[in-house]
Amino acid sequence: MFSRTAPILLLLTAAACAAADKVSSLDVRLLSTMLTSNEGYGEWGFAALVVADGHRILFDTGAHPDTVLNNARDLHIDLSNVPDVILSHHHLDYTAGLVTLRREYAKSNPAALARAHVGAGIFLSRTDGGAPEANPMIATKRDYESAGGTFIEYTQTRELFPGIWLTGPVPRKYPEKNWSPGRMLRLGDGKTTEDNLPEDQSLVIVTDKGLVVISGCGHSGIVNTMEYARAKIAPAPIYAALGGFHLYQASDDTLAWTAAKLKEFGLQNLLGAHCTGIEAVYRLRQLTGLDRKTAAVGAVGGGFNLATGLDPGSIAR
Ligand SMILES: [Zn+2]
Ligand SMILES: [Zn+2]
Repeated sequence: MFSRTAPILLLLTAAACAAADKVSSLDVRLLSTMLTSNEGYGEWGFAALVVADGHRILFDTGAHPDTVLNNARDLHIDLSNVPDVILSHHHLDYTAGLVTLRREYAKSNPAALARAHVGAGIFLSRTDGGAPEANPMIATKRDYESAGGTFIEYTQTRELFPGIWLTGPVPRKYPEKNWSPGRMLRLGDGKTTEDNLPEDQSLVIVTDKGLVVISGCGHSGIVNTMEYARAKIAPAPIYAALGGFHLYQASDDTLAWTAAKLKEFGLQNLLGAHCTGIEAVYRLRQLTGLDRKTAAVGAVGGGFNLATGLDPGSIAR
């Protein structure tokens, strides 16, 4: 029986791989990061509007409750027709805008920002030795749900729409530890363990040119995330890495190791925003052999388009 069915199964698997869904149009616009161009406010935070084959997705929501709201208005970007929001992890510089945005845009469209996609672990109780609860997502959950929003929690990689994937929590194969110490996960019975941001997830878009990886803070590690995406989603080169990769404190050795891995993955475009760090972006540009057209610091209003490439914003060209 096996000898008869195995070749058929192999053929089916090969056909399924060849026919893996790909996105043909993609535009990513930054709505929160430190640097800003002609319009919008800069802040220590991250948010981006992703439009992939017509699917409009907000990736993270900024550090102040009204930054993304104001920046979207300044940039004439309508978010009332965005049903889905992804939160990369629980830190406040990514999640502070969620409830404000939902409340504001629900006035004109009840479906606006009504679904929030999060990685398992985002609601775990944390302590930093100060306030009774150090995880702002516990209060945010209550407020978002009372504003009509629903959270969808992922324990593993999932295709949200054809060719548009969430990594879910990422295994930490390499020790790319980049988070600040001091915040602990509560395990119960008064016990705690270091908070390694287990919920940290990225968005991965499959295209003809390769994978486009969009990261908020990169606490899983840029290399861990890319290697996992290539193993779980598609064994393709990384066409573009966009967003925050938390390398601003990385040593020269770490940047050299990271750059070697990025070259191995075939990286062709890098838009380093937020906590990627300005020096880190330029160092990675040099070490990976990219140039000012293909590696830049991201600014509010800038972004990336699959057809035309990086559009960093006037200040960062
Ligand atoms: Zn970060
Ligand atoms: Zn973070």
